[in-house]
Amino acid sequence: MRNEIISLSIILMLLISPIALAAPGEANGTVTYVVDGDTIYVQIQGYDTRIGNITVRLADIDSPEMNTVKGPSCKQFAQLQLNGSSVTLDLDDKTGKDGSGRWVAVLYRKEQDGTLVNFNKMIVDSGYACICDYLNNEFDPLAWWIDADFAEACRLEMPDNRRINCTDVKCSNNKCFDGPVVGNEATGKYHYPCCPRAKEMDRSNAIWFISSEDARSRGYVPCNVCCYL
Ligand SMILES: [Zn+2]
Repeated sequence: MRNEIISLSIILMLLISPIALAAPGEANGTVTYVVDGDTIYVQIQGYDTRIGNITVRLADIDSPEMNTVKGPSCKQFAQLQLNGSSVTLDLDDKTGKDGSGRWVAVLYRKEQDGTLVNFNKMIVDSGYACICDYLNNEFDPLAWWIDADFAEACRLEMPDNRRINCTDVKCSNNKCFDGPVVGNEATGKYHYPCCPRAKEMDRSNAIWFISSEDARSRGYVPCNVCCYL
């Protein structure tokens, strides 16, 4: 009886609050093909192979097109991370599909230990895509970093001698942002999340910006360890 009440409560909660549906698990499947850094084919679980393939456009990021210099290496990164992987999708409940019929989604890779890795975030952290916040969907890309554990904010260790050109990733349109970057309210400097200085800063001083330009417009200056202009 108690279980039934709990189930009923969950059903009611889902009915009342559409936001409760906005989470990974709306569709599950396997990556069958990587078109480029932001477009992926997924075979949806439980469907006939002829109709189960959907095209997913990773939400709120932009990766260089295949006819650009960087396109092939971005595709290669996505292939390496995703080909054949089990994934779960958080589909955009506002728009569903984009103008080209692709499902707009945040794609999570299912790890062996059951954890989910946000691939939209990962490809930005890895430098093969940048944020492009299409405001018409349900997602707020900056939240992927704000909610992340600080030590986990970047999955790549950044070598001490490597700095990132803040405008290194050129995407297909002008709306592309190079962020996210994190500012330190105590020092007035901003960093890429991978920066060792960012990881060691006091969490209570962290302020996130969607781009380095955004950070500079609020008076922050680039960290000389991780960023140059
Ligand atoms: Zn830094």
